Amino acid sequence: MARRRVDYLLIGGGLAAANCARWLREEGADGSVLLVGREPDPPYNRPPLSKGYLQGKEPREEVLFRPDEWWQEQDVELMTRTSVIRLDAAERVATLSTKDEVEFDRALLATGANVRRLQTEGRDLDGIYYLRVFANSDAIRAIGERAERVVLVGGSYIATEVAASLTAAYGVKCSLVMLEDVTLERPFGKQVGGFFQRVLEEHGIEAHGGQEVERFEGSDGRVRSVVTKGGLELGCDAVVVGAGVAPETTLAQQAGLELGEAGGVRCSAGLETSAPGIFAAGDMCEYDSPVHGRRMRIEHWDVAFNQGKTAALNMLGRDVEHDVLPYFFSDLADWASMEYVGPGSGDVVVRGSMDDGNFTAFYLTAGRVTATLTVGRSGDLEQAGRFITEHASPNPAALADEGTDLASL
Ligand SMILES: Cc1cc2nc3c(=O)[nH]c(=O)nc-3n(C[C@H](O)[C@H](O)[C@H](O)COP(=O)(O)OP(=O)(O)OC[C@H]3O[C@@H](n4cnc5c(N)ncnc54)[C@H](O)[C@@H]3O)c2cc1C
Repeated sequence: MARRRVDYLLIGGGLAAANCARWLREEGADGSVLLVGREPDPPYNRPPLSKGYLQGKEPREEVLFRPDEWWQEQDVELMTRTSVIRLDAAERVATLSTKDEVEFDRALLATGANVRRLQTEGRDLDGIYYLRVFANSDAIRAIGERAERVVLVGGSYIATEVAASLTAAYGVKCSLVMLEDVTLERPFGKQVGGFFQRVLEEHGIEAHGGQEVERFEGSDGRVRSVVTKGGLELGCDAVVVGAGVAPETTLAQQAGLELGEAGGVRCSAGLETSAPGIFAAGDMCEYDSPVHGRRMRIEHWDVAFNQGKTAALNMLGRDVEHDVLPYFFSDLADWASMEYVGPGSGDVVVRGSMDDGNFTAFYLTAGRVTATLTVGRSGDLEQAGRFITEHASPNPAALADEGTDLASL
């Protein structure tokens, strides 16, 4: 067992840790930086795994956070296929799966999230897939090339994006089975979710709302159908499950760090955990949002990216709050793209035309804009962000009226 010392230890090989490494260097950190990640690949962007990469349009190199040589150029030591298995927050020592020990001055915990696995009967049959890492996307790509029918379990962005990608790129016949009545209802409500469901249906994808999967049935060890509690039976060659994720907090719990109500690692507005000098970012970070005035944990690419930067600045002693408004995007093949700032809910005011696939939906709670989703009208987002951060209560009729300049409200 060897013991060594680094100035900055970044735990987790995802986007949050990678962007933290980048900003440490961009902001002048000249100490040693070690990034330890469990996966075989260097840090990469996950969104293409259900979109361009899955469709075979985007090569692996373009999905990487940075090209391989960048890490060396930046003098960031990258240890892949390595887990941090123990963290002594008081002594500031981490134990790696190699059994080596690393003393550190500052650390970032960015261990991300794991997919939620169904405990349904038949779950061990071959042909049932989840999607989080490169290898999962490769496997789903392979079924795209040979399967005729795929059932997607879930109504959120993983299931809808994968259904769109398999249909558009491989001509697979896809069916969605979900607990909610319409796709994307949970984050965006029935009206806006219904728009995305119509887009999917127009491209031949069946959507079965209000259905809970009871069991998977198979023959010769392979899944052949999905049976729901409502009596629906859908034949298939494969199943892809998108049932959400849970923050990966095993290490944080072992280290005795405080957790929040949403299951993440509890952090201050500056993303520092309950252990001084140890910060958190990304899917597992539950922080006091100065923008929203409440504690939040958000599983978005852009949030992981920006929190990696905030954590880097605070590891350098800058004492900044994470005051970035969370932004989300999603694409259903090249049929429809959404952008969203929030999160929020409430009454929906629509500007533009849902029928034409060109609209902005403002979500109002007690008259205040708390979130905004847009399709084909990115230009509205900047002003929408201002409404949210300034706690504005614009007149709903004026919001809906395309003749009214948003900036004047
Ligand atoms: C298929 C897919 C599509 C997506 N599309 C979108 C999208 O369109 N828009 C959007 O906003 N968001 C999207 N997301 C979500 C977005 O990618 C995540 O929010 C983001 O990747 C979170 O980054 P992270 O660094 O917090 O965690 P992760 O990306 O999960 O990285 C954490 C890493 O830490 C490693 N790790 C865990 N524990 C340890 C340990 N003890 N030691 C060492 N390493 C460890 C994990 O193996 C993992 O590699 C998508 C996600 C997926 C899976």
